[in-house]
Amino acid sequence: FLKSKTAIVTGSTSGIGLAYAKAFAAEGASVMINGFGDAADIEKERAGLEASSGAKALYSAADMTDGDAIATMVAECHDKLGGPDIIVNNAGIQHVAAIEDFPVEKWNAILAINLSSAFHMMHHAVSHMKEKGWGRIISTASAHSLVASPNKSAYVAAKHGLVGLTKTVALEVATHGITVNAISPGYVWTPLVEKQIPDTMKTRGLTREQVINDVLLDAQPTKQFVTVEQVAALALFLCRDEAAGITGANLPVDGGWTAQ
Ligand code: NAD
Repeated sequence: FLKSKTAIVTGSTSGIGLAYAKAFAAEGASVMINGFGDAADIEKERAGLEASSGAKALYSAADMTDGDAIATMVAECHDKLGGPDIIVNNAGIQHVAAIEDFPVEKWNAILAINLSSAFHMMHHAVSHMKEKGWGRIISTASAHSLVASPNKSAYVAAKHGLVGLTKTVALEVATHGITVNAISPGYVWTPLVEKQIPDTMKTRGLTREQVINDVLLDAQPTKQFVTVEQVAALALFLCRDEAAGITGANLPVDGGWTAQ
């Protein structure tokens, strides 16, 4: 149902972002993927998306800390693929440390990648969507956009901010056929989660198994990690015409975490 539509997904060389790109491509969309990683692996994913969609797939190496690079990425998408009709603000990083030890450069990087990049994306993409009178803007927030956990000050602040930004832009574009929503996953098994296990082991003095069962899944009543496919399926639904009435919403996919 996305034939003739174009989607940009930031941070889509891995994890949840890659699952969004695959879901859009499977519905026939042209996609622009973005993020870091091994060049051969990225090329393999890009070619796979093209094969699956029957439409074009491009890769942009734009760094989400760089507003000019984001502008260039959106312009390249517009010139080569059209649109963008769908943007997903998904790139994100994490750092786990107590407030007094939190490295200032990590604070700045997390705010830039997890929050400001979404501003730059919308700032540049909304005019293209208004021209067509149709658009879908989705941001991957987090259960940490609704509740906090210790030692994640920058991440929790950025994700709460991302939801504020989502609500604001939803109001601004509400009469233009453009919806703006956040999806807030609980713990999804991806490299981002795997990478924070050693730091949590260190800061809380726990074993790997204790971090997985007692810290990560402790908050998730289902005792299951959410899957990237489950998150992508919701993004796909938000792109349907049936979802035109959902805007300014923050939709949890968190195994019941924030019901507590
Ligand atoms: P991931 O580490 O697998 O993927 C992150 C992606 O962002 C990668 O493609 C990476 O290359 C890219 N990226 C990082 N820094 C970048 C930069 N400066 N410029 C461009 N791209 C950059 O992580 P994930 O778990 O798939 O996370 C995706 C999003 O989902 C993030 O916003 C994260 O906060 C959010 N999220 C994840 C979980 C989870 O449990 N995994 C839960 C809630 C929210």
